[in-house]
Amino acid sequence: MSTKSNENEFPESFKDIRCIICPTGCLVHVENVNGELIIEGHSCKRGEEYAREEFISPKRILTTTMRVENGFLPLIPVRSNKPIPKDKLENTLKEIAKTKTIAPIKMGDILLKNVLELEINIIASRDLNKS
Ligand code: SF4
Repeated sequence: MSTKSNENEFPESFKDIRCIICPTGCLVHVENVNGELIIEGHSCKRGEEYAREEFISPKRILTTTMRVENGFLPLIPVRSNKPIPKDKLENTLKEIAKTKTIAPIKMGDILLKNVLELEINIIASRDLNKS
C-alpha cells in the first residue's frame, strides 16, 4: 500500500518506522519528496496514520517515578495518561522530579495535572499505602 499527502514542513527527509499498532509489525517507509509525504509498506489505514504521526511529531508514553512523602515506599512508579511529544519529554521529567506526592495513593490517581500545559496528566501506576 502507498499513499501521498501534501504537508510542507517535516523534520527529516525519510524514515523507516516499525508500526507497533498490531503484532504484524509492518515496516513503513515515510519519505518527504519535495514537500509531499509518501508513505509505503503499511497494510492498513491505522498503520499509515501511526507512521505519519511518528514521522511528523513522534510521541511517547512517559514512565518514571515520583517522590512520595509519608509512603510505604519513597518512590512511586508513574506514567503519562497520554503520549507526550518527544521534544517535551525532558522538561516533563524535570517537572516530575520537582514534585513530591503524599501517600496513600491509588493506582490511576492524578499526581501532576496538565503538565507543561500539554493537557496531559501524570498518574500513579500502582497503589501505595502510608508508611
Ligand atoms: S500497518 Fe496495519 S497491519 Fe501493519 S503493523 Fe500497522 S496496524 Fe498492523
